[in-house]
Amino acid sequence: MLLNNIKNFLEDIFLEINNKLFSSKYVVRGKCKRCGKCCRNILFSTKEGYVKSEKVFKQMQRKYRYYRNFRISGVISDKLDFQNGALTFECKFISKKNKCLIYPIRPIFCRDYPNINPDLIYNGVEMLDGCGFYFDVNKKFKEYLK
Ligand code: SF4
Ligand code: SF4
Repeated sequence: MLLNNIKNFLEDIFLEINNKLFSSKYVVRGKCKRCGKCCRNILFSTKEGYVKSEKVFKQMQRKYRYYRNFRISGVISDKLDFQNGALTFECKFISKKNKCLIYPIRPIFCRDYPNINPDLIYNGVEMLDGCGFYFDVNKKFKEYLK
C-alpha cells in the first residue's frame, strides 16, 4: 500500500508538470458528476487506428493481460467519421452504482482523466454527453483585447 501511494504521488506530480508544460492553451473546468460514462465508453487504438473488431480486441487481450479488465460495451457511429465504427469498452471495475472498485490503485490514465490533448480538441473531440467537465481556453476574454 505504501509503495502504491508513493507511486501514485510521483505519477500525479508527473501529470501535473506534463499538463502545465504541454497543455497551457487549454484548461479543464467543471466537476465530476459520477455518472460512470467515462468508464463505460473507452476507446482503444493500435497502430492501425481505433479498435473496430472483436477479433483484434481478443488478440490484444491474449497479448496483454491489462485488456482483460475490459469488455465491449458498444460501437460508435459519428457524423464526422472520426471514430466511426470504433468499439467502446467498459471497465470491469465499475460498480452498478458507478463506483470504481479499485479507486486507490486505479491506473494513471484514470487519474489523469479528463486529460488535455490539444490535437484532439482541434479536431472537435468533446467530453462525453452529460459529463460535468469541459475544456476551456486558458485565457480570459479581455486578455485577447490587449
Ligand atoms: S463522464 Fe465525466 S461526469 Fe461522468 S464519471 Fe466520467 S468524468 Fe465524471
Ligand atoms: S479502473 Fe476505475 S476509474 Fe478506471 S476505468 Fe475502471 S472503474 Fe473507471
